[in-house]
Amino acid sequence: MRLVIRPFAIELKEPFALSVGSRTSTPAVLAELHHAGLVGYGEVALPPYLGWTQAAVCQALERVVWPDDPDPLNLDALLTAAASALGDLPPALAALDIALHDLFGKILGQPLYALWGLDLARIPPTSLTLSLAAPEAIQRKARQATEYEIIKLKLGGPDDRALVAAAREATDRPLSVDANQGWRDRAAALDFIHWLAERNVLFVEQPFPARRLDDHAWLAERSPLPIIGDEAIRGMADVIAARGVYHGVNIKLAKCGGLRAARAMLTVARALGLKTLIGCMTETSCAVSAAAHLSPLADWADLDGAALIANDPFTGAQLIAGRLTPRPAPGIGVEPRAPA
Ligand code: MG
Repeated sequence: MRLVIRPFAIELKEPFALSVGSRTSTPAVLAELHHAGLVGYGEVALPPYLGWTQAAVCQALERVVWPDDPDPLNLDALLTAAASALGDLPPALAALDIALHDLFGKILGQPLYALWGLDLARIPPTSLTLSLAAPEAIQRKARQATEYEIIKLKLGGPDDRALVAAAREATDRPLSVDANQGWRDRAAALDFIHWLAERNVLFVEQPFPARRLDDHAWLAERSPLPIIGDEAIRGMADVIAARGVYHGVNIKLAKCGGLRAARAMLTVARALGLKTLIGCMTETSCAVSAAAHLSPLADWADLDGAALIANDPFTGAQLIAGRLTPRPAPGIGVEPRAPA
């Protein structure tokens, strides 16, 4: 089994503006696992706020040593060994985990969702994320995005109410909102959420800085809308700690270390009575398609990452009736695009 690692610069179609800053590209790492004439594809995108660098991920992946004559069908043991070799670097594990799952599915000749026994009819509609912009731009984009059933607004700036009002004028589809840790005041947040609850908003993501557990617990106890942790939720321990602090969790492959961890977290979150959102970074069809295979396990999906990028090197899951749906092809079901 041979691992090929490629640093890759994801170019965004438009600048992606959040309460924490704006960017036009996202560093990523693509992984290829070659074995017996098959190739498993993996990817992780590394938005700067996560604090993990492309160089660190590449260096960690170069250190991975497989046992002699590894059997990719021995997926769990190989991932456990890789996780301990990679140390505390979930994104490196995520790229490898996706590639190994892709290879696993290709050897067995089945898509991952089928190997897991998941029903594509349970895939929730995916939202389209509109980053912070002027109200007129939000309205134009909300009107254009006719193929999406849910619009997600990035908030946490000074004009949150105006942005929601603008989007609400443009469409009567449900909205979700993500403050990306941008709110500071408990009472103001609660007041705003009551206002949102009258405007067909489904949930609120990460209102306050992730470390402010007491503020989130206070808000969750009173909020008429579900409060979802994102930046506060990386691995399984965070899902367990979310009980009593959040109503739900946003699980992303890049944060938690890939499909094996995300699948376990989705199961545990549900058992704890937490709502689940499966999310993504601005990333290619590789990682987004991988996540789509797990999406029947989630209450909500926010898997629009590949729709926001300009240089997708893969084709994969497609938007069908507003749901990001994996191709019925072995593994994660992606194909490299022919070079332009
Ligand atoms: Mg978020």
